[in-house]
Amino acid sequence: MRRHRQAKIVATLGPASDHPERIRALFDAGADVFRLNFSHGTAQDHQWRLAAIREIERQTGRPIGVLMDLQGPKLRIGTFAAGPVTLADGARFSLVLDADTAGDATQVALPHPEIFEALSAGTELLLDDGRIQLRVEACGPGFAHTRVVTGGRLSDRKGVNVPGVVLPLSALTAKDRADLAVGLQLGVDWIALSFVQRPEDIAELRALVGEHAGIVAKLEKPAAIASLEAIVAEADAVMVARGDLGVELPAEQVPALQKRIVRACRDAGKPVIVATQMLESMVAAPVPTRAEASDVATAIYEGADAVMLSAESASGNHPVEAVRMMDRIVHHTERDAAYRPGIDASRAPPQARVADAIGAALRNVTELLRAAAAVAYTSSGHSALRMARERPDAPIIGMTPRTATARRLALAWGVHAVLCHEVQSVSEMTEVAVDTALRGGFGTSGQFLVIAAGMPFATPGTTNLLRVAPL
Ligand code: PGA
Ligand code: MN
Repeated sequence: MRRHRQAKIVATLGPASDHPERIRALFDAGADVFRLNFSHGTAQDHQWRLAAIREIERQTGRPIGVLMDLQGPKLRIGTFAAGPVTLADGARFSLVLDADTAGDATQVALPHPEIFEALSAGTELLLDDGRIQLRVEACGPGFAHTRVVTGGRLSDRKGVNVPGVVLPLSALTAKDRADLAVGLQLGVDWIALSFVQRPEDIAELRALVGEHAGIVAKLEKPAAIASLEAIVAEADAVMVARGDLGVELPAEQVPALQKRIVRACRDAGKPVIVATQMLESMVAAPVPTRAEASDVATAIYEGADAVMLSAESASGNHPVEAVRMMDRIVHHTERDAAYRPGIDASRAPPQARVADAIGAALRNVTELLRAAAAVAYTSSGHSALRMARERPDAPIIGMTPRTATARRLALAWGVHAVLCHEVQSVSEMTEVAVDTALRGGFGTSGQFLVIAAGMPFATPGTTNLLRVAPL
C-alpha cells in the first residue's frame, strides 16, 4: 500500500482515538506518523496505542513512525483557595514561590524557583495561553510583584510563559526523564523535546537517547529562534510548534517564522513538521474553515515534510474526517501547477558532499527520464534524507534492511519506506528495487528506476553509486 502524496501527516492520539480500530481508521485515512503526547495519558495508554500501531504495521506491511512528545518545562501557577479569580487591568498581583500559598485576587503560587532568578523589573509574564499579561515591578528570590497589563479570569494551574527571557531550566524535567524511560522501553521512533531554548538542550537529550530514536526539536521559544541554525544542526528533525510560539511571540510573527524555520530545515535536509491549529475548527465541526484549508496548503507550498493534527485527532469530534481532509488538501495542493515551480525555486543548492552530489544527479536523471521512482538504498536513512532534500519530482522509495530506519523515514517528505533484506551485489539490489517498485505500483514496464546506493553495502554513510534500471 502506498500514499499518493509527498508530504506526510502526523496525527496525535488521545481520547478521541481510543480504540485500536479507530487508530486503524486514522491510518487508512492517511496518518503516516502517530504522536503520543506525554503531557496527557498514562504509560498504559501509550503502551496499548503503540502495540496497536505495530499491529497495523504487521497487517499492512507499511512502516509507521511513532513520535513521543515530552511535556518539557511547562510552567504553571498553583491553585486558588476559593475558585477562580478575576484580575482587573491595572491591579497589583503577586507571584510567590511557596507552593503552599493559597491563591486569591492578590497573589498566587508559582512553584518554580528558577523563574524568580530570571525575572527583573519590566519582564512580561503571560498566563493562560497569553490571555492574561503581567509586568514585573519588583522582584526578589521568592516573589514578584506585578502590575496587571491585561486582566481576566484566572483559575487553578494555568500555564505561565516568560517570552523575553532565557530561563535557566533544562528542557528535561523529572517527569520527562521518567516518561523517556517508558518511551525508550516501548521503542518509539522519534522523541520531541518541548520548549527547547539552546542547542545544548538537544545534546542533553541525545546523551540519554543515543541511537535509539531521532530527536525532534520543538521550536516554541523566542530563544530557540535566536539560535535557529545551531538547533537545526543539532536536532534530527524540527517542529514549528505554533501553539506556544504564538503565545511567546505576537501571532503576526508566526507566519514569517514558519517560513524561516521551514527554509532552514530544508537547507539542512532535516525533516520539518508544521503543527498546531491546522484544522482546529474540525475539533467541533465536520468541515474546516477555508482559512484552515489554506493554512495546510501554505505549509505544503513551503515544502514542509509533514503537517500535524493535535486536538483534531486526539480529542475532537471528527478525528478520522480531519485526517481525511488533511490528506485531500495535501494531495490537491501537490497537484497544483504552481506547486512544483515553488518547490524548485525554494530548494537550497546541494552541498559539496558525495551524498548531495548523488542526490542532485539522481533528481536530474529522474526528471529527465521521467522515471517511475527514485530509489535510495539506505541503512541509517541518511542518503534517503539527502535525496528528499532535493525534493525530486517523483516518489522516493527508501529501501532499508533496518526496521528502525524505515519507521523513522515515515516522517520524511516523499519517502516511501520499504523493508528489504541485506543485498550483496548491485544486480541483486537492482532486482529488489525493480520488484519493489512494480509490486508497489510505482510504474510499469518500460519506465525507468533511478537507484542510489553505497558500496560496500550495509556501511552507513557511503552513498557513492547511481544506477539507472528499466522496470
Ligand atoms: P504542544 O506543542 O501541543 O505539545 O503544546 C505544540 C505547540 O506548542 O504548538
Ligand atoms: Mn507547545
